[in-house]
Amino acid sequence: MKVTSYFEKAKGSTLISFEVLPPLKGGSMEAIFNTLDPLMEFKPPFIDVTYHREEYIYVKKPSGYYEKTSIRKRPGTVGICAAIMHRYGVDAVPHLICGGFTKEDTENALIDLNFLNINNVLALRGDARKFEGKFVQEEDGHAYALDLVKQIARMNEGGYLDQNIENGEKTDFCIGIAGYPEKHFEAPNMENDLKWTKAKIDAGADYIVTQMFFNNQAYFDYVKACREAGINVPIVPGLKPLTKKYQLNSIPRIFHVDLPEDLAREMLKAKTPDARIQVGIEWCIQQSKELKAAGVPCMHYYTMGDSETIRKIVEAVY
Ligand code: FAD
Repeated sequence: MKVTSYFEKAKGSTLISFEVLPPLKGGSMEAIFNTLDPLMEFKPPFIDVTYHREEYIYVKKPSGYYEKTSIRKRPGTVGICAAIMHRYGVDAVPHLICGGFTKEDTENALIDLNFLNINNVLALRGDARKFEGKFVQEEDGHAYALDLVKQIARMNEGGYLDQNIENGEKTDFCIGIAGYPEKHFEAPNMENDLKWTKAKIDAGADYIVTQMFFNNQAYFDYVKACREAGINVPIVPGLKPLTKKYQLNSIPRIFHVDLPEDLAREMLKAKTPDARIQVGIEWCIQQSKELKAAGVPCMHYYTMGDSETIRKIVEAVY
């Protein structure tokens, strides 16, 4: 079923969804199941699986020189989606990115998804490759998520890259996109960022999942700004609990989001790792309760492999 159909069916009550990362290459599917098994009692109608592009590494050669090579450390997104659907009977939402994909790679990936009866995708640009300053599109690939959304929407109309294909199978993808309550870091301002978000909706995207945020007001202001800009699709808040002291620096650096002073202060005051986890859990519970009371369509938890923490939060909220 489509993600947006779940929202419609829920008739205003707040759903829960989870997001998992493929294990590092060499890992097993058990890692995913171990994360999800303890969370399935909360009945998520869909589970997202992230996509990780190749990255550069340097390998030392017998000559002593280093050779730059690229590897994908976390492959397996599509297989994991199929395994999740098979094991739990819920929908899986693969993330699909522009980075590393030609248009034909994208088309072929969408054909695989369609054949597997996976009818939801989160369409993203992806970030710059590690050690590359800015995002570089693949030759004959997409530069922005907007172009990826357009390609998916075209396939939903039976349009394939090969112009000779007549009466091509019409796919039926429900398309999610990313949204940034604190603005995408490359956008000059929120107005400009929302212009492109609106363009993705006009091109066929059906709903938005937000970047994590730790101050609900940022989400509420974002939803208001979206509505004023004519963006009327469901906007799902993405939530991640802070659990470690180093995240006070790493989360703002990696995800370009602010951490409220109160949260940072409590985190620094906590004396033990357990006490710090507790601070993060309490904060996320309060955020979740307020968002649920505001009637958000769904709460989307970034698990990052930590089901225990997420479980405690969801138990306290539902
Ligand atoms: P875009 O919509 O392409 O926007 C990128 C920037 O360009 C923005 O500043 C925007 O304002 C601007 N812009 C957009 N369209 C145009 C245009 N046509 N012309 C000029 N400027 C434009 N990354 C992964 O690699 N794998 C994942 O699984 C993944 N999952 C994510 C899930 C969520 C919920 C979120 C919020 C992010 C996720 N990301 C993931 C990270 C995401 O790929 C990055 O944030 C990336 O930098 C931007 O992606 P986007 O789809 O928002 O890009």
